[in-house]
Amino acid sequence: MAVNLNTGIVLEPMKEPAVSRGLRSYLNPEEIYVPCYKEKLRNIMRVSKDQPVYVYDDGMALHAGINGRFVRDVTITNPDDTGRYFVYKNMIGFADVQKPQETDRMSITEITAAAKAASIIDENDGVYLYKKLEYARKHGKKTLVVDCVEDEPYVSCMTNLLLKNQAELSAGIQLAVRAMQTDKACIAVYKQFDEFKTKIPKLLDNIRIKNIHGKYPLRYRLKYYFKEHDDIVTISAGALVHLYRACKFSKPQTSCFVTVAGDCVSTPYNIEVTIGTPVRDLLQFCGLKQEPDIVIYGGSMTGHRIEDLEQPIGHTTKAVLAMKTDIVEKKTACISCGRCNDICPQDLLPHFIYKYAESGVKHVLSRYNIDHCIECGCCSYVCPANMGVAASIRRAKKLIGKEQASDKNGK
Ligand code: SF4
Ligand code: SF4
Repeated sequence: MAVNLNTGIVLEPMKEPAVSRGLRSYLNPEEIYVPCYKEKLRNIMRVSKDQPVYVYDDGMALHAGINGRFVRDVTITNPDDTGRYFVYKNMIGFADVQKPQETDRMSITEITAAAKAASIIDENDGVYLYKKLEYARKHGKKTLVVDCVEDEPYVSCMTNLLLKNQAELSAGIQLAVRAMQTDKACIAVYKQFDEFKTKIPKLLDNIRIKNIHGKYPLRYRLKYYFKEHDDIVTISAGALVHLYRACKFSKPQTSCFVTVAGDCVSTPYNIEVTIGTPVRDLLQFCGLKQEPDIVIYGGSMTGHRIEDLEQPIGHTTKAVLAMKTDIVEKKTACISCGRCNDICPQDLLPHFIYKYAESGVKHVLSRYNIDHCIECGCCSYVCPANMGVAASIRRAKKLIGKEQASDKNGK
């Protein structure tokens, strides 16, 4: 597919002040929420820190971030996400006993196995880190690009790691390049940082930091900004920090890095948060200067609005934004202007996909390549009628995916 790097939209970055502040931690929440499918839960009444508590369909696990006792189960209903969860109360604070191991002599197999045992997920694309390392080796990919390209407004959690957690990030990069059997690495950041007070260094321990220019959605096309793009594997900064911890301390991933911002948040910050922490608690931790009208979960462009603030933080939740004013004004009727079709970076026809998704005519959606949608949100952004095009397409895509999975399991 030809890639046009000039397409897309220009967005205000709005990353300060969170990006310039230190990285905070919220790793001892009062409660965590664990997806509730009884047959997949290892232990229902109690969970222990770092123990696998929930096994996904692919055999990978969610590890508990606290020592907890079961207190209740809840059903959380949000427009894009409904699910039942077991709630565990934090019984006691934990002393995070870390027994360091020598990492200098770890073999390729040992590093990859550590990433797998820790169930590290790349928060930028939801892919398991060990799969990326295996893919890189199998296909001879020789360049690691550390993905700190945060082209959505507000989101700055990966760049914040580059600025405030350099030692762990650098150690994680060294381990990843060894697992890929290469020595080529580069860190990609978003060029818009040039406009900020926060300055990005040119090097991190001799690893080049490259500014990437371009319009949103830029990160999806990241590899095409490199001449040697066929040779590249991109891995997020967060996944590399977790890789270092997995190799050094045998620590599974129980946390993720989240930007908490918006005009209702007293002190916007990037925070390391225990996975399963409800959004409500995280917002309280940062403080609210006024009650938000809307809370966006996931990212300012790719995220979605949530009503139920018990929604837990997941591996790929990169931002929680609490806003006073509804950025989506009242919806009117589609005027068939075609702007959504013109802007789509995947050359899809969101106008028609939306129309058929809304009217429940699902069988034609595959003809319009709904599965090629990268959920960037550009179609909604440009729509003069505020149709919520991307949200509707995302829901239809998810529904079709679920139906296909259950058809497969039924066979
Ligand atoms: S959300 Fe999907 S349909 Fe809409 S512009 Fe992005 S890729 Fe195209
Ligand atoms: S941009 Fe909005 S109003 Fe225009 S065709 Fe697309 S859905 Fe309809």
